[in-house]
Amino acid sequence: MDVIIGAGVSGLSYASFADSDYLILEAENEIGGYCRTVKQDGFVWDYSGHFFHFQDKNLQQYACENIPPDTLLACTKQSQIKYKDRYIDFPFQKNIHQLQKQEFIDCLYDLFAAAKPDYSTFKQMLYAKFGKSIANKFLIPYNEKLYACDLDVLDVDAMGRFFPYASKEDIILNFKQTGSQSYNSQSYNSHFVYPQGGAIEYINSIFKRIDSKKLSLNEKAIKISLEQKTITTSKRELRYDNIISTVPFPQLLQMCGVKYNPSVYSWNKVLVFNWGFDGKSDDIANNWVYFPEQQYSFYRIGYYNNIFKTSRMSLYVELGFNKDIQHINVDAYFQAALNDLKKCGIIATQNLISSHFVIMNPAYVHISKASVEDVAHKKELLSQYGIYSIGRYGSWTYCSIEDNIKEAKELKHKLEHKLKQQ
Ligand SMILES: Cc1cc2nc3c(=O)[nH]c(=O)nc-3n(C[C@H](O)[C@H](O)[C@H](O)COP(=O)(O)OP(=O)(O)OC[C@H]3O[C@@H](n4cnc5c(N)ncnc54)[C@H](O)[C@@H]3O)c2cc1C
Repeated sequence: MDVIIGAGVSGLSYASFADSDYLILEAENEIGGYCRTVKQDGFVWDYSGHFFHFQDKNLQQYACENIPPDTLLACTKQSQIKYKDRYIDFPFQKNIHQLQKQEFIDCLYDLFAAAKPDYSTFKQMLYAKFGKSIANKFLIPYNEKLYACDLDVLDVDAMGRFFPYASKEDIILNFKQTGSQSYNSQSYNSHFVYPQGGAIEYINSIFKRIDSKKLSLNEKAIKISLEQKTITTSKRELRYDNIISTVPFPQLLQMCGVKYNPSVYSWNKVLVFNWGFDGKSDDIANNWVYFPEQQYSFYRIGYYNNIFKTSRMSLYVELGFNKDIQHINVDAYFQAALNDLKKCGIIATQNLISSHFVIMNPAYVHISKASVEDVAHKKELLSQYGIYSIGRYGSWTYCSIEDNIKEAKELKHKLEHKLKQQ
């Protein structure tokens, strides 16, 4: 029997593709992992804003098969940056012409003056590709707030395809482009879909393909014996043929008793406030807004009301913390974030009537050269014992749910092939 650890999108997708006998262990009392949805006082909130931009239409069809089509909202992305006294379109580097004149000149001059071809960290890449003004005004402060670390720690390619690269030509050409021609319509997530019932609808849709008797909730995987091929859980000991794990990779190494260097693995935590208000929002266009400035406690907020087209303002508010911060004083940050929303005019007359929070830990992993190498090496080692690690945290990467489904499908094919060869 195969044991799948975790009933998030990765574990459930693997189960839905599998032909083998399997059991899914989930530590929590419900399925979904980070794709869970909270419904409270008439508001619908995800753990954090989760919007779905599928590149592969077959995977989209797969994930949406059991969702009534008329409940899937098709949205065109609109996102901006709150920068000093104004809002400018995202991404900053392509919209510097919207800045005050002297700042625009500085950004443009430095863009052309930047001529350092060699870089080996994420921070050096930002300076080399975009020049010091664009880097210092947005790219560095914003990403430092999000990742909560020194950006020199991150690999050049830490954000993969999710980083909005732009050449000098793209930047200049965008100066005259608006609406359907602009960046917002060209980025990886320019169009996204969102189920009326929240992200959990994808999970429920995938779960319909699975025999629910093969899921065990409230059962935590604790220890794996590589030699005996047994797994100890909070309830029992089981023998396994293969383990498909979606738990954060360092935790899997600990479970298996594999020695590793903890300093290789670093990540941020994200505190998310989901807030519902009694009045309407003044912003009726943005899906989300970025806040690079230190004067605001959050790095991003999003407007559910602009997706659902509801009359009451409904927000998610995201704050980044380094993993080493053991205790996050949620009450203090609740007050600070609320005050900051008033300071920048997002809350005026509206009253907060419903509130929820969650701490995502880990949220964004810090991808470095060392982490990429160590994950690849240790995954190879574990595969010799029939243990395979997938998912955003199992592969210790930056990805979307589409990538999770794809990775699960690829692993199923790999194991099928392996079985045929035996
Ligand atoms: C702030 C934020 C915003 C995001 N926005 C988007 C977005 O807009 N669009 C998008 O496509 N993706 C988004 N993502 C990414 C998306 O959330 C992930 O790719 C996806 O949820 C990962 O699923 P997973 O199954 O790999 O991991 P998880 O969802 O973490 O699932 C792992 C499961 O394993 C369980 N588990 C852990 N340890 C054990 C154990 N020892 N025993 C048993 N069970 C265990 C957990 O309880 C959990 O249910 C976002 C992520 C973050 C952090």
